[in-house]
Amino acid sequence: MHLNWLAWAVPVFCLFMYIEYAVARRQGKGTHGLHNSISNVSIGIAERLLDLFVVGSFFTFYRYLEQNFGVFDIKPSLLLWVLLFICTDFVWYWYHRLAHEINLFWAAHVVHHQSEDLNYTVSARITVFQAVLRTGFWSLLPILGFPAEMISTVLLVHGAYPFFIHTQTIGKLGILEYIFVTPSHHRVHHASNDEYLDKNYGDVLIIWDKLFGTFKREEDDVEMQFGLTHPLRTRSFLWQHFHFFAELLYEMRVATGVRSKLKILFGRPQHVRSDARARLERIFLKSSVQSPEVGARLNRYVLWQMAIALISLFALILLEHHLSVTHQAVVAILIILTLINCGAILEQRRWVYYLEVVRIHVALLPTMIYLSNPLTIVAVICLTIMLALPAYFRKRYDRFVYGA
Ligand SMILES: [Zn+2]
Ligand SMILES: [Zn+2]
Repeated sequence: MHLNWLAWAVPVFCLFMYIEYAVARRQGKGTHGLHNSISNVSIGIAERLLDLFVVGSFFTFYRYLEQNFGVFDIKPSLLLWVLLFICTDFVWYWYHRLAHEINLFWAAHVVHHQSEDLNYTVSARITVFQAVLRTGFWSLLPILGFPAEMISTVLLVHGAYPFFIHTQTIGKLGILEYIFVTPSHHRVHHASNDEYLDKNYGDVLIIWDKLFGTFKREEDDVEMQFGLTHPLRTRSFLWQHFHFFAELLYEMRVATGVRSKLKILFGRPQHVRSDARARLERIFLKSSVQSPEVGARLNRYVLWQMAIALISLFALILLEHHLSVTHQAVVAILIILTLINCGAILEQRRWVYYLEVVRIHVALLPTMIYLSNPLTIVAVICLTIMLALPAYFRKRYDRFVYGA
């Protein structure tokens, strides 16, 4: 049986997240807000999921570039593996720095910085937009002549390392602080205190920041604030992904002339007016069902959904080669709907009920297609009743979820 063993990364990283949580509790550090962690992991699940469908094309893209434009004919050797790792880290530094300095790129990277906690779950805050953007930067590597197989292997290691630097449980690491990006350095990168803004872009090696003037040491007497300088006031899964794209579109619509529109797209994030978001939030994030208080019942409901989404993701990656694209797509859509649902439930959005109906439709879709007639009929009747009597079912649904 041909299994994709990379699926085990899901439970292994979850285990590390739990260990870090336990250590933080023992150290008496309040570094884990439940809803923040749920929101972080949701974004990570979506990225892993969408990566399943696009990562193959990244490999093909690298191979195409190497075979058609590769400057040097590179064969794997110890020296060249090390050189590739250093080149990858160097390209990462510039990708990351420009992602903070150019609006269009920041729109993809901003999601990583929205969390106001800093712990291992934040390392999951990566989006597929970032993966696409990074691939653009990393295309320099096959153009140099590095084979796609070498690049993919190095990116696996390079991609796993930053997981471990998103923590407040580890202090400074002595001599390692001079060479590697450590948790201390990366805390500075995630801090929104004025003195820490736009610092420490490195991924594995800290030398690039020291070389290009963006290095900042973590001071013991500064209390760190994490997250955006203007924090998001929502856990909406969709809004977290798209708010800055929407802000840019809004600003571009208001600006006059091509020059000023382009200036918004390629300018710096500091120059986007902060009232754009407030206006858009008034349009897109309307009122909630009841009071915004979230009880233990709701937390349990969301936690169960997250657990099911994680298990489904694990199974989907593991069995990737045995599932048709249609099956993969149905499971992927179900997981994405579940993530949107979790964010919306925490926000107590009015449309959660309707999203649930859509989710049940999607879940029953394979049944309708592949199984016998009686089940299809039962499914259709159930859904018709739920849609025909929304008030009745919605009231019960709200009571079940919110306990009110
Ligand atoms: Zn960053
Ligand atoms: Zn980070």
